[in-house]
Amino acid sequence: MIDLKKIQNVDIDYLTHIISTDRYDEEIFKTADEIRRKYVGEEVHLRGIIEFSNYCTQHCLYCGLRAENKNLARYRMSPEEIIERAKLIAQLGIKTIVLQSGEDPYYTTEMMCEIIQQIKKLDVAITLSLGERTFEEYRIWKELGADRYLMRHETASPQLYAKLHPGDSLENRKAHLYELKRLGYETGAGFMVGLPGQTPYDLALDLVFLKELDADMIGIGPFIPNPDTPLKDATGGDLQTTLRMIALARIVVPTANIPATTALGSINPLGRQYGLKYGANVIMPNLTPNPYRPNYSLYPGKICLFERDTACVECTKHMIKSVGLIVGEGYGYRKKTESLA
Ligand code: SAM
Ligand code: SF4
Repeated sequence: MIDLKKIQNVDIDYLTHIISTDRYDEEIFKTADEIRRKYVGEEVHLRGIIEFSNYCTQHCLYCGLRAENKNLARYRMSPEEIIERAKLIAQLGIKTIVLQSGEDPYYTTEMMCEIIQQIKKLDVAITLSLGERTFEEYRIWKELGADRYLMRHETASPQLYAKLHPGDSLENRKAHLYELKRLGYETGAGFMVGLPGQTPYDLALDLVFLKELDADMIGIGPFIPNPDTPLKDATGGDLQTTLRMIALARIVVPTANIPATTALGSINPLGRQYGLKYGANVIMPNLTPNPYRPNYSLYPGKICLFERDTACVECTKHMIKSVGLIVGEGYGYRKKTESLA
């Protein structure tokens, strides 16, 4: 039997133990599904993601968009293209638009202001995922109506974080996340599973941090080695451990919005369905327009490429129904703790 209290209290030794084996998985998965149903219900929220630029000034060792990668055709969508795409997403009935990119200073504070203001007119929630920007920018964009900010902490091990992000620190990443929280954003953290050198203890630290931050959104996916990066020969994350971490995240932060990630679906054709069964309650259909979509190439084997631009919407709705869950029709804000039984 798993000790639920120890998981909820993020007992680091206990977490390390249950993360290091698949012995408890059946019970962890069942508990995560029950907690999901109790705290956030059976609705799965759709978030339409526009990956609007694959330029990046950063050097994250794992990522295909890193500045040093010369084997990538770079693109930037114009503000008009982004707004047009957002209109189409709103017409499809999706109530959250996620704007994601590499860290790309081409998009100035003012350009993002204009994009946010235009998209807010469409009666949708906006999630930004632009990497680290200035605290002043976060403040201005929040005032203009941006609702959420996604910025994974990537790993809560300070040593591993420093190795993967030359010249940067976990402390700095956390400072950004706490500032986003302070400004009133629904704040998304999260991490990769299967990073080189990552231990069960490191993964336990990830759960401790999610609880400490009280993350509103939690993105967890397997690390997938990219041949155009320094980590090309690494092994990468496996399905079972990634599902275990998603389920444990649900138990640790019961009301968080947790996506069944694209990376999970990329390492196994049924990966996202399993994610939804074991605690996830969000899907992010890819609505990046072609011809750009294939070039947002974080890792090889990324699903949903070359499809008809909007095919992912029907596909994800079908997926939600196939696991017996309901397609959410609202904005999908985090459920407030007060309303919990
Ligand atoms: N640039 C922004 C940032 O870093 O927050 C947003 C875009 S970034 C590409 C989105 C996420 O992709 C990262 O947080 C990282 O976890 C994930 N990612 C990057 N490379 C990956 C890889 N090789 N395998 C799995 N996930 C990866
Ligand atoms: Fe850039 Fe984000 Fe990739 Fe890092 S993870 S290289 S910041 S796009």
